[in-house]
Amino acid sequence: MKKLLICLLAFSLYFSCKNENSSEIKNKSVTTSTSEVKAAEFAIIIHGGAGTILKKNMTPEKEAAYKAKLEEAIRVGYNILKNGGSSLDAVEKTINVMENSPLFNAGKGAVFTNAETNELDASIMDGKTLNAGASAGTTTVRNPINLARAVMEKSKHVMLSGKGAEIFAEEQGLTLVDPSYFYTENRLKSLKRVKAREAQNAGKVDTESAYLDFYDADIKDSKFGTVGCAALDKNGNLAAGTSTGGMTNKRYGRIGDAPIIGSGTYANNATCAVSSTGWGEYFIRAQVAHDISALIEYKGLSLKEAAKIVLDKVKTLGGDGGIVAVDKNGNMVADFNTAGMYRATMNDKGELTIGIYEQ
Ligand code: ASP
Repeated sequence: MKKLLICLLAFSLYFSCKNENSSEIKNKSVTTSTSEVKAAEFAIIIHGGAGTILKKNMTPEKEAAYKAKLEEAIRVGYNILKNGGSSLDAVEKTINVMENSPLFNAGKGAVFTNAETNELDASIMDGKTLNAGASAGTTTVRNPINLARAVMEKSKHVMLSGKGAEIFAEEQGLTLVDPSYFYTENRLKSLKRVKAREAQNAGKVDTESAYLDFYDADIKDSKFGTVGCAALDKNGNLAAGTSTGGMTNKRYGRIGDAPIIGSGTYANNATCAVSSTGWGEYFIRAQVAHDISALIEYKGLSLKEAAKIVLDKVKTLGGDGGIVAVDKNGNMVADFNTAGMYRATMNDKGELTIGIYEQ
């Protein structure tokens, strides 16, 4: 009898442990399975920068202009994907529309450096091959995202900068422009405002003036506006790209996160494609785009969970901004810790969403 009781106890212990284990696995797989569900055969998501974008500072005309341009841009990429084109083409051509618009801080409309020049950065990544290309500090290449793609596909390198990048662009037959092409009155006014503020605060220790343009809403508005795109095509290939003029009043050949693979841009068919926007120095230090992918790959998190963790990390470091991303199953996430972020999504059903402010 005693033996029978011991046996029964052993059996029940065994089964309760087994159940605990299986519920643990089940719980884990619930997290993973959320992102394992195929949400869309193809999908595309874009941003036009994050920052202190408040409804009270917007006129209806300005809001309508942003919405129209976001829609025009995303429809270009959507049509490429719908017709079976590659995510790389969708990303490049969608970004071109935003680069060619003065509304965004990329291509035409790029912000000014302290020296009143425009120095542009861009990057692109192919999630299928993990191949990537980037350009930094160019002043004459009309569409830096095209240069980034040429670096990826036509050179042995990943990143080219300055004069050398421009020589390569010329060799590749890309459209070059006079630097004055990038001039826009609004961006020059922003620079003047930032400089006036800086002069007012002359004598303050460096760290304080470095934070000045972060805390001043007007200045902050003028600082952001980078563009980016992440896409999944019908073949399951992910791609991401980012293009920017950087940050108003930047000095000394400063390069931000946008052309840094792993910070501003990352794509991997095993996980997701990400494009970032925000205070570049923090996005570099937090390795934002790659970190999101790594949390999915190594921890089995969903894209949404991963993005939140990484943006919280940026916040903890003292920076702010946002990301747009799509995972291998077509789940899309637009997340930011600023007041707003210009953004749009389209899925395989042709459903369009456009957002500007926090919702
Ligand atoms: N991330 C860009 C930079 O730091 C700025 C932006 O996103 O608007 O250069």
